[in-house]
Amino acid sequence: MFIVLLGPPGAGKGTQAQRIADATRLLHVSTGDMFRENVKNETELGKTAKTFMDKGELVPDEVTIKMLLERIARPDAATGAMFDGFPRNVVQAAALDKAMASRNARIDHALLISVPDEELVARLGGRWICRNCGRLFHERNDPPKQDGVCDACGGELYQRDDDRPDVVMTRLEKQKPPAALIDHYRNAGVLTEINGEQPLDSVTSALLGALGMSQA
Ligand code: AMP
Repeated sequence: MFIVLLGPPGAGKGTQAQRIADATRLLHVSTGDMFRENVKNETELGKTAKTFMDKGELVPDEVTIKMLLERIARPDAATGAMFDGFPRNVVQAAALDKAMASRNARIDHALLISVPDEELVARLGGRWICRNCGRLFHERNDPPKQDGVCDACGGELYQRDDDRPDVVMTRLEKQKPPAALIDHYRNAGVLTEINGEQPLDSVTSALLGALGMSQA
């Protein structure tokens, strides 16, 4: 099964992706994580990506699509994957469709987590990430037991540079799933829209329900 998870920054997509990956055992392919890993390792790709990421802009399609195609060519992505943060536009979606078709597969489900803009701005400021294991927390919706400390591994929590308030507005404007992308999957008959203003567990249940699974 191949799934794409769509949603604006701050819709809870990262948190839900972790939960869905756990529940479905699907390979989790996050282009954002891949870029961050490259930035951390100071690769050429990372240096290119950073110039765009720091401004809250999308990395050019050519670079992103190449990275994604290389990733899904690996054996662990042969039978299924959940794409998180990809595609961001119709050009990327078309490249993914083509890659799927070449292996006689298709995107089976496109899950869209919808949240109004005002709520997104309020949410984005409160996001914290574990420097050690990458777990996500949110001050209001999913706080760590102790401020600044990861529940899972005791690591230090930090805020991403692109979660700073000035960058947040740019990211929202530039990174909301465009209507054409949503239409792409609606027209393919695979789109399910989930209300992302519900409690986290309800969003997870709705997402798993759309995949024909119930929450463990
Ligand atoms: P994310 O973790 O999905 O919010 O991604 C973090 C940053 O990585 C984004 O702000 C973009 O600069 C870049 N990025 C991630 N995925 C893509 C993509 N599919 N296309 C272009 N840029 C991306």
